[in-house]
Amino acid sequence: MHNETVTLGSEDAIVARGTALLASVRQRPPIALSSGWWQERLIEWASADADFRTKLLRFVDVLPALRSPTAVGEHVRQYFRDDRRAAIRLGASAAQRSVFRPVVSRVVRTGVFAMAERFIGAADAEEVLPALRSLLDRGTAYTVDLLGEATLSDAEADAYARRYLDLIRVLAAIHIHGDPLRQANVSVKLSALTPHFEPAAPEKTWLAVAPRLLPILDAAIAAGVFVNIDMEQYRYRDLVHEIFGAALRADPYRTYPHFGIVVQAYLRDAPTAVARVADLARTRGVPITVRLVKGAYWDEEVAIADQDCREAPVFAEKAATDASFERCTEALLGHFPNLRPAFGTHNARSIAQAMVRSEAAGVPREAVEFQMLFGMAESLREAVHGAGYRTRVYVPTGELIPGMAYLVRRLLENTSNESWLLQRDDDTPPDVLLRPPTPSAEAPLEQRAFTNATPAQFHEGAVREAMQSALAAAKSGRGARHPLLIGGRAVTSAMWDEVHPAGEPAAVLGFVAQAAASHVQDAVRAARAAFPAWRDAPPSARAAVLQNAASLLSAKRFDFAAAMIMESGKPWREADGDVTEAIDCLNYYALEAERLGTGGSVGSSFGESNRYSYEARGVAVAIAPWNFPLAIITGMASAALAAGCSVILKPAEQSPLVASLLAQLLLQAGAPAGAVSYVPGPGETVGKALVEHPDVDVVAFTGSNAVGLEILAAASIVRPGQRNVKRVVLEMGGKNAIIVDDDADIDQAVEGVVASAFGYAGQKCSACSRVIVVGSAFRQFRSRLAAAVESLVVGPAEDPFTQVPAVISAEARDRIQRAIADGLEMGKLVARSSTPEGPGWFVAPHVFEGVAVSSPLAREEIFGPVLLLFEAKTFAEALAIAIDVPFALTGGVFSRHPQHIELAMREFRVGNLYINRKITGAVVGRQPFGGMAMSGAGDKAGGPDYVLNFMQPRTITENTMRRGFAPAG
Ligand code: NAD
Repeated sequence: MHNETVTLGSEDAIVARGTALLASVRQRPPIALSSGWWQERLIEWASADADFRTKLLRFVDVLPALRSPTAVGEHVRQYFRDDRRAAIRLGASAAQRSVFRPVVSRVVRTGVFAMAERFIGAADAEEVLPALRSLLDRGTAYTVDLLGEATLSDAEADAYARRYLDLIRVLAAIHIHGDPLRQANVSVKLSALTPHFEPAAPEKTWLAVAPRLLPILDAAIAAGVFVNIDMEQYRYRDLVHEIFGAALRADPYRTYPHFGIVVQAYLRDAPTAVARVADLARTRGVPITVRLVKGAYWDEEVAIADQDCREAPVFAEKAATDASFERCTEALLGHFPNLRPAFGTHNARSIAQAMVRSEAAGVPREAVEFQMLFGMAESLREAVHGAGYRTRVYVPTGELIPGMAYLVRRLLENTSNESWLLQRDDDTPPDVLLRPPTPSAEAPLEQRAFTNATPAQFHEGAVREAMQSALAAAKSGRGARHPLLIGGRAVTSAMWDEVHPAGEPAAVLGFVAQAAASHVQDAVRAARAAFPAWRDAPPSARAAVLQNAASLLSAKRFDFAAAMIMESGKPWREADGDVTEAIDCLNYYALEAERLGTGGSVGSSFGESNRYSYEARGVAVAIAPWNFPLAIITGMASAALAAGCSVILKPAEQSPLVASLLAQLLLQAGAPAGAVSYVPGPGETVGKALVEHPDVDVVAFTGSNAVGLEILAAASIVRPGQRNVKRVVLEMGGKNAIIVDDDADIDQAVEGVVASAFGYAGQKCSACSRVIVVGSAFRQFRSRLAAAVESLVVGPAEDPFTQVPAVISAEARDRIQRAIADGLEMGKLVARSSTPEGPGWFVAPHVFEGVAVSSPLAREEIFGPVLLLFEAKTFAEALAIAIDVPFALTGGVFSRHPQHIELAMREFRVGNLYINRKITGAVVGRQPFGGMAMSGAGDKAGGPDYVLNFMQPRTITENTMRRGFAPAG
């Protein structure tokens, strides 16, 4: 068999080498398991049964967080009671009886911990020494990796850095200078060294990482220790390279030959990573080791790309990754001796090709090494060793709880159908195992009727530059005048309002004409005039205008985002999310126009024809809040236009500029003059006049509860000349809670709560303002939350490193400060962050506890970065607290208890409930958004019922019988 891509060595030589390796493996017993029969069975069952595999992985994941035998018993029962295997069912039912629980708990714990021991070296640096010594005694080198929790605070980053320093110190005991086998070797994850590893801000991330990384490198140099930088998710890849490059180009690191970095072959652009490291090695003139691996985050990369509606950065097929591994092998060898190759793989074919190709390239054996994971493919490693190559084992070290993510990844790998390890015992002939990887042609991305806009990939330099130049343009365009738009024409006014940048209140961003009463009359008249033709236009024509607008907006996405960063103080990602949501609304409602254009289905009978169709209601006004200055007004306006209504835009006083850009864009996209008007001005006058106007048929409002209810009352009064009963669509505020169950993943819960509570300084209707923690999770959650909040980066919105920007206005700042004063008086401060000096209405994020659940502070919307923490004894109690407020907009649960999740799904009655994720960031078409109770009238934006708000159904029945003759069909 010949593979045309082979340029080094020959295919025959690879197969021959692989066959020899496999023969040597097959003489040895399969992997020695540390604890017996059942472990093998579990892995076997999990490999054969996808459902059991999910249950097992989830169970292994939650187990260390279970703090009592009752909790272990309860979870065993929950996860495995329906299993078809008798032995498992027996265990599950034993777990139900309290007398057996301690036994079940012990057996299960021992089992899972033993499983963990197979893959994790030891709990800490001191303890790992015996394992390393025994490896060295067998002629095997090692590298130690530190497992840990996600780094959520500066204190945790400091602790991580100390652990690395400690590790280097401890390893000195077994380190021998100049001996590649016995040289101490550590693997470092850069994301562990800061709570804010931000690909959008490489320079600031470097400043955050360097004070922790450089002392580690200094210690390594002083002791002669090798340091390898590990790779994690793709979004971090370039940032890791930049930090690695910045360090390695500086003295004294520039000349140290014992640094390495990982390249992941599963990435489609893996060769660019090899080239990048080669450049670095060449410019510094000192070699760098590259550990070539396949990559360990495949599921996550694929899932996140799918959610973002973009192509995954990883190959879909294992064979494609294997082929890429071989191409990268050649690339790597092509850069020898600048790059020193280390191959991290458990695949006999991949190993054989690396051996043959390195030999063909003339790379000496001692300059090559093979790396494998602790506890995996031991006999294969011995076979490689026997073939005269140095082997190195990657030894993860750390506590079991934080190590769970690692353990789950390993189990995933060991139980996957494509795992080579599973093929060890069966009779697969060597020539099948050793075939050159031949990926099939990749299926194109699945075509869906509706696709969400992809978030800007700020880890790409070109994307960051596009945003920076849009920001520069927005700054240089300051002072522009924005007239009204009525009947397709720009209209000036006697009154102009100054708009100030949210982050720089003293400056003037632009001037906005303020509508007078006569402008409101003109706009409604123009809308009424444009209405019949727009209503009667084919749905496809209306859809085309909206799709056109979506394309125009996509082309100007950074200009719109920059406008929001300036006007509303939205940080980069939040502003980008606002734009993508607006694009989604335009595209989604365009499809809805066509769908609803075909009418609804009703019954029919012989001799009778029934038609059920939808038709636009008339003139709509969109009254919008400032906090999603583009997405919300676009959503309301585009749904109205999709239905066939004319629409008048009334933006919030704080964010009229972005709305002006939108109105122009809709007209440019082909909306008829008059079908879109723009009349900014105060709510109390302009908004009120629009609501009360007899010729306005639909009022779509998003904003506060007080104003929403006032509008509802005003719209219910029929005024002279009014033809239609007004339809009011209300989206209002929230007082949203997240429950953290006692078995929650604390890393995930803290991260989710912080993002939900403090993203855009808590100025989201969906923001979390209460967190209720159940039982034994409370202490740990509280301390990690406090540290995470204290580490938040508060700063200007235009700085991509900023996590929490200034709030929208002086008035907002004062109102939030009053709430903080109440919190200090009624409760106890848990944590607060610091705030920067300088322009902008900064309010530090605050967390309080001990506030009475019945107090106004715990029941009313604050709309700022203030979070209340509560403790509950049981999940049921937490749920009762969560729903005992007048609002019901969003809610969240972090839990791994199936019954609690079910209970929440049933009883946690809010418009949008999120399980095990943050509670902000609903996506059009996937998470239709809107509240219940005092949060809204139940209309879901971005879902299949929304456009109907702007339409009314008509039923037409025709008797088709004439003189007793009924046509067929
Ligand atoms: P707001 O209620 O003060 O203003 C909203 C809009 O109503 C503005 O355009 C304003 O000019 C106008 N308005 C004010 N008085 C009016 C009147 N008497 N008649 C007609 N219009 C009037 O809200 P805001 O401060 O801009 O936004 C923040 C609020 O919006 C928060 O309560 C937040 O929870 C809510 N919100 C809800 C959602 C949701 O989807 N449920 C989304 C975003 C914001």
